This record gives sequence, C-alpha cells and structure tokens, in this order.
Amino acid sequence: MKNSSTVIPISAVGHAQPAVAVPHVPVPATGNLLDRLGRPLTDLRISVTDRCNFRCSYCMPKDVFDKDYQYLPHSALLSFEEMTRLARLFAGHGVRKIRLTGGEPLLRKNIEGLIEQLAQIRTPTGEPLALTLTTNGSLLARKAAALEAAGLQRVTVSLDSLDDAVFRHMNDVDFPVADVLAGIDAALAAGLGPIKVNMVVKRGTNEQEILPMARYFRSHHGARVVLRFIEYMDVGATNGWRMDEVLPSADVIARIHAEFPLVPLEAATPGETAQRWAYADGGGEIGVISSVTQAFCHDCSRARLSTEGKLYLCLFATSGHDLRPLLRGSASDGDVSSAIGHIWQGRADRYSELRALLGPDEGDGKAPRRVEMSYIGG
Ligand code: SAM
Repeated sequence: MKNSSTVIPISAVGHAQPAVAVPHVPVPATGNLLDRLGRPLTDLRISVTDRCNFRCSYCMPKDVFDKDYQYLPHSALLSFEEMTRLARLFAGHGVRKIRLTGGEPLLRKNIEGLIEQLAQIRTPTGEPLALTLTTNGSLLARKAAALEAAGLQRVTVSLDSLDDAVFRHMNDVDFPVADVLAGIDAALAAGLGPIKVNMVVKRGTNEQEILPMARYFRSHHGARVVLRFIEYMDVGATNGWRMDEVLPSADVIARIHAEFPLVPLEAATPGETAQRWAYADGGGEIGVISSVTQAFCHDCSRARLSTEGKLYLCLFATSGHDLRPLLRGSASDGDVSSAIGHIWQGRADRYSELRALLGPDEGDGKAPRRVEMSYIGG
C-alpha cells in the first residue's frame, strides 16, 4: 500500500533552499579547498538519472516507485555538457575522482558520451581524473567494452546475493543473478578491474549469503574483485529502515574470519569509506563500510551532484544547493567556481557521527525528511 506521507516528489526536494548566489568575495580555485571541519573536496559523485530498472526494497521500494511515480522530466536533467563544465570546475577545487551513479547510470542514453567528455578533464597539475561508475550490473555485459573505450577506468557492481531466489526477491523485478555475474566477467575482460562488488547486508534477508559471496569471489577472481559489505543505512524516507535489520560490520568480519582468517590493511587513500581486510592466505581482499556502527564523517571528502544540478554535501542531507540556475543563466566559470567554493567552505555536515550520539531516526516523522539515495546516488 502506498503511503503518500513518505513519498518525496523529486521536484520538491531541496526547494527549501533558494538558488545558489555568487559570493561577493570570489573563492579562488586553489585546488586546496577546505570545509569548516578542515576536510578537502576530493571526490564528486554525479547522479546521471533518477530512474532504475531494479526495485530493491531498501532503496526504491515498488509501492512508492510505481507506475505513477513522477520522475524528473528530461529538460530538468543536467546535460552532459553541463555536467562536464561542473566537473571541470570541481577539479579546479581539488576533486580527483568522479563516480557516476544514479538511479542506474547505464540507463542514461549514451553515457559513453559523458565519459568521453569527462576523460578530457585535467587537474590543475595536468593529471586526468579517476573515472568510475556504480551499477547494478544488469546492462554491464552489453556495455563494458564501450565504457572502457570511452575512458572509464573502474566499475563498482552492487550485488546482494548469489542465490538466485534471494537476489530476484531483493531486486524485486525478478532479475537473474547469472546476468550480473556475466556483467562482472565482461567488465574484468574489458579491463575495468579490479572491480568492487558491494553487498548491502540486511539482517534476516541476505546475511546467509555473506560466506557464499566470499567463497565465490575468492575462488573465481582472487584479487581482481574486492567484495565489500555495506551496513544497511537509514538513507531516504521510503525504505522503512529499522536498526534491528542492520548487521554490524564487526559480525560480518567475524563470520568470514572463522572460515578464512583475515588481517587488517591500512587505508589506501585518506577519506576511504571502507575498512580493508586481506585474506591471510593471500587470496585477495575484502572491505566493510560501516556508516551506521562506525561513522566516518571526520574525513569525508565527498560531494554529490543530483541529476538536476543540486549539490548535496552529505548522503543524509535534507536539501541541496541548486547550481542549475547559474549554469543556465549568465554566470561565468569564475562565478560558478566561486559559488561551489563558498558552499564547501560553509560545510559542517556530520550526520552519521551525530546519529551515533543522538540515536538513529527510526522514521517517526520527528526528523527532517532526508533525500532519497536513488536521487543523489550511492
Ligand atoms: N544503480 C546503481 C547500483 O545499483 O549500484 C547505483 C545507485 S545505488 C543507489 C548505489 C548503491 O547504494 C548500491 O550499492 C545500493 O545497494 C546502495 N544502497 C541503496 N540504498 C541503501 C541503503 N539503504 N543502505 C545501504 N546501501 C544502500
């Protein structure tokens, strides 16, 4: 049964905040922008569509995202040129890595064309950006080679179960697991590895799949696939999140360690979301992303750009900063760049750390409505 009080029409999201103004004092693009907590801006996630062909209950539940759901009209979406312009300006402020997400990014028509444009961008010191994409894998077998040829370097594939019945139930569109596995194979063959495979763990739903997933990816792909376990998060307002459905990462590690001993690894880069572990026998690596039980806001260097050009400073934000009027008005690159710099300098978000102190929002309507993950991406 659709509960209309939980539906956040995309067109309403972020309207509480006026369009972004160009600051009076310009913020130069020094490549070293810091927010109020001293955090740099190094990662940009761009949502290229609010549509998805899966209906995972924890993300786009079928009763809310049904045939009557109002997606963004095409004219509202940023064009590839607008996204590329913004990406170039973000690179001037220190962004080194761009992740395309959604919705399902491979549903956006000619996504390869966007990747080609992004691949031309250089950092102030002349390096190309790291370009990656998160996908549910459903179209990957068909598209992997073209994505690589366009300039994509890596992919992250979301996969919550190897058991076909469990997987079909979780994606809620009866999509077979074999096609996602074929997508992973194709991406490896195309040179998009090492691949990260992300599994959202829901207690009581797919926790029995933790060990089969570890066994499969270890034995089939070794170090070429890094399996990562994500704690089920209280993002958005439509998934009916409950704390008792979260399986803490510490439990995941204990279960795997009992069969395959693990040793902790250092973070590869500052601000990395996953804690990394290696199989002690050299069989590869896994990771855990513990945004519920171990908040990592203190070094969060990620900004998120929604499909229609709103800048979100936190996955749990309730509103975004609307950059689209600047892009579609007469603002110069310097104006837009200054606006971005000014917004980041004012950033103090640390939702997950505060939740750890105050306790989670159990969806009782007391907390402000958070934006949906399908709208700003993972
Ligand atoms: N469609 C693409 C995909 O499936 O990877 C990209 C968008 S999807 C929103 C990005 C990631 O967010 C997926 O790995 C998905 O499992 C994860 N995700 C969505 N809702 C979540 C939640 N409530 N808790 C944890 N992860 C979630």
